[in-house]
Amino acid sequence: MKRNSKLEGIVIRNYRIQDFHKGAVIFSPDTGIFHAIVYGGYKGKSKLGPSVQPLCRGKFDVYHDPVKKSNKILEYESFAVYEDIKSDLKKYFTALSWLEISVKSHGGGESRSDFYSLLSAALDTLELLPEALLDRLAVQFLLRTAILLGGNLNPNECGLCGKKIASEEPLYYSRADACFSCSNCSGIQAQAALISAGIKKYIEYSLKNSLETSLNAVIDNNLLKYFKSLLYNIIEEYLEENLLTLKTGKDYLF
Ligand SMILES: [Zn+2]
Repeated sequence: MKRNSKLEGIVIRNYRIQDFHKGAVIFSPDTGIFHAIVYGGYKGKSKLGPSVQPLCRGKFDVYHDPVKKSNKILEYESFAVYEDIKSDLKKYFTALSWLEISVKSHGGGESRSDFYSLLSAALDTLELLPEALLDRLAVQFLLRTAILLGGNLNPNECGLCGKKIASEEPLYYSRADACFSCSNCSGIQAQAALISAGIKKYIEYSLKNSLETSLNAVIDNNLLKYFKSLLYNIIEEYLEENLLTLKTGKDYLF
């Protein structure tokens, strides 16, 4: 990191350092996940401290101390504070699961800037979203994330033998290989999950359209919920780690 930088970012979490200093874990499209400190951030009179909190997005003026190898936040300009997300438990746990994916994927890995754009757009949308559309947005975010993390989620081709899969043919998700597969290949798999025609169409439509447009696509609610769980599983397989938010927030997420 340079000595002085201005970085856009989303605050993922805070932690206390000694008595009064506020640590922040921040996801920036420029540097990925980094830690920075607001000195005196927990003191009552701190101007900067209260605004550097989880689920806010803005621009940080950061001084990097090469000796202490630490980052100090000098200024912060707020772009968005996601108040509605924080006051609604379903939205809140949905967003927390996204932030956890951000950290565990090291900021989306090689797709960092695309992943950051997706996360910002999804949080902006979630903030204003009517609750009836929450699962649709969650699925759109998870589907796009799975692809950015390197997943092959092409519903028209078997990821194992490469055969084209026609729209009327059944499609499976092969857990062992983390890809879609044809009926022949899924036969050898002990744990293949059937992807229904409805979900298949939904994926095809989503991959051709923007997140915003795809929110309008109508899909049966049970299919949507099933697909959401499957996508969380797929992402956990890619991350090779469980998402803790799925446990703590299970009453609100599923
Ligand atoms: Zn196949």
